[in-house]
Amino acid sequence: MTHPQSLLANPLLTEWTGAFGLPPFESIKPEHFRPAFDRALAEHRAEIDAIAADKAAPSFDNTIVALEKSGQLLNRTSNMFFVLAGAHTSDEIEAVERDISPLLARHSNALHLNRALYARIADLHCRRERLGLDVEQKRVLDRYHIRFVRAGAALDKPAQHRFAAINEKLASLGTQFGQNVLADEKSYTLVLEEGDLAGLPDFARAAARAAAEERGHPGKYAITLARSSCESFLQFSSRRDLREKIFHAWITRGENGGATDNRALIAEMVRLRAERARLLGFANYADYRLDDQMAKTPQAARALLDEVWRRACAKADAERDTLQATIAQEGGNFALEAWDWRYYAEKLRKAKFDLDEAEIKPYFQLDKMIEATFETARRLFGLTFTPVNVPLYHPDAHGYEVKDANGRHVGLFIGDYFARASKHSGAWMTSLRDQEKLTGDVRPIILNVCNFNKPAAGESALLSFDDARTLFHEFGHALHGLLSNVTYPLLAGAAVSSDFVELPSQLYEHWLEVPEILQKYARHTVTGEPMSQMLLDRLLATRTFNQGFATVEYTACALVDLDLHALPETARLQVNTFEREALERIKMPSAIVMRHRLPHFQHLFSGGGYAASYYAYMWSEVLDADAFQAFEETGDTFDAKTARRLRDYIYSAGNLRDPAEAYQAFRGRLPTVDALLKKRGLDAVLA
Ligand SMILES: [Zn+2]
Repeated sequence: MTHPQSLLANPLLTEWTGAFGLPPFESIKPEHFRPAFDRALAEHRAEIDAIAADKAAPSFDNTIVALEKSGQLLNRTSNMFFVLAGAHTSDEIEAVERDISPLLARHSNALHLNRALYARIADLHCRRERLGLDVEQKRVLDRYHIRFVRAGAALDKPAQHRFAAINEKLASLGTQFGQNVLADEKSYTLVLEEGDLAGLPDFARAAARAAAEERGHPGKYAITLARSSCESFLQFSSRRDLREKIFHAWITRGENGGATDNRALIAEMVRLRAERARLLGFANYADYRLDDQMAKTPQAARALLDEVWRRACAKADAERDTLQATIAQEGGNFALEAWDWRYYAEKLRKAKFDLDEAEIKPYFQLDKMIEATFETARRLFGLTFTPVNVPLYHPDAHGYEVKDANGRHVGLFIGDYFARASKHSGAWMTSLRDQEKLTGDVRPIILNVCNFNKPAAGESALLSFDDARTLFHEFGHALHGLLSNVTYPLLAGAAVSSDFVELPSQLYEHWLEVPEILQKYARHTVTGEPMSQMLLDRLLATRTFNQGFATVEYTACALVDLDLHALPETARLQVNTFEREALERIKMPSAIVMRHRLPHFQHLFSGGGYAASYYAYMWSEVLDADAFQAFEETGDTFDAKTARRLRDYIYSAGNLRDPAEAYQAFRGRLPTVDALLKKRGLDAVLA
């Protein structure tokens, strides 16, 4: 394809020819993105139109393979753009993001509602047994068919119009929902004086002082509704009156009346989702959503949650009694309330385990822990990681060439670990290029992006134990991308259902706690000594502490989510009444509040990624706990045969198989909940 002269200077429009096929980071500027997106969208539209209008009868080649090969400029441009938008953004990049997001949504809608294109896919799908396809080709065809049907391609014209209108409405309601939560968070600040800080450790004081400064109260202290600010206040402040005050503000985000109240939005979104599901022939949204997940039905998801729920409640009751006893010992004469739980749990944790964050941190140096993630991948999968000097988008991002046991190139891994102003919060895995074999032997370029504190020059970065867990988690996702071994891009790497995608990541976390890894890599930054057995025991013992509370707080949300999305479209939803009644039905313990109450439950309503799917975290946890047990059963946490099956059926298999089938191929059976219950300390609670 030839490009007009004016676009020749746009580096986004050329093939990536840097080392390992990297893009020319140093010459890409924010103003290159909009024209590149315009061109990429137009090219992809033309490709789609040509496939749909092909005079030849539909074949796997002229339809599915053609679709799989289409949109390459769009993929490259999007991958590049969203890596920057997440890890190294700017006002210019954010402006492009606002501009381009609705265009991308409309483009995807138009693709999936293209009737001529769908007719070709449906025709092939009908004849799938007679096309002479291999297993992978059959799976790709199947996935295309399901994806188009679920996106409304098979509906008649009027229904398609309604479907598209619902999608657009839901998208704008979702954006509004998130902005309302953010507005409520921004508009509330609890401004405190020095004398109000009783109990707060230095790091929390420093953070409160900085927050006050930033909000125009220099010299004072501010507690905000950001989880980190508010939760650490609830954990450490001995001022019960102030804990109650901040807790109340925290749990009423999104329901304060006026322009930022989310309750009417929720009612409308739930109704629209139910209508969309009904258009596709499902009784409700939960049925629709879970039909294409590993769980398959809301009943299956609920069966797991119910099993966990009754044990979690029993454990939480016992925890509450212990906390109440602590209050009595201190001479307190009041019943434990939700704003007291974190405070007394923290006191108890210190008394019981004598474990101080400051004692643990020196053992978890970032560099050593990165080595530990690499060593684990070497012992499990024979991979090696060698630092390479390649130009990337920021000096803190580093590249590693990945090779297999035979010295063959596997892909490029990029680690970008330190927090900075241009980076979004959180931790994630993403890619610049995914593995596939359709257009040649395309090797993946996979990134891990984290937000660890950057040390002063010359000092080594130290992690908390939770940070180290995050490092292993994201690296597990990275391996899912790096080890991918499929032909078709649609099936590559992490393109699996949301109740399966956390298996490779959560499973990898287990190797952080393997004694030989800790002994070798968790070494004191000054003395170089490994942790004493006593310290290690104390650290590992805290894992099941307060898990009744944590499990109740999470599971209640998952249960209410499933209930909410089982409503028919005719339901006249009163959000508060619904939530209260749903919690009464499951007998929610009185001193615990849902981790996310509905009016600010962003997993469900901003974007909707976890609508009717909040259960997925626990579903994946059943899988990871059971999968790690497969290693433990052999007596060797690096058992070669088990690792081989793990690689073949999970880490390298992408979406080649139905997830339940993939798991069964790895484990020889479906998972049971036992290992999860043990991991959370819920196994001994009830018979
Ligand atoms: Zn994850």
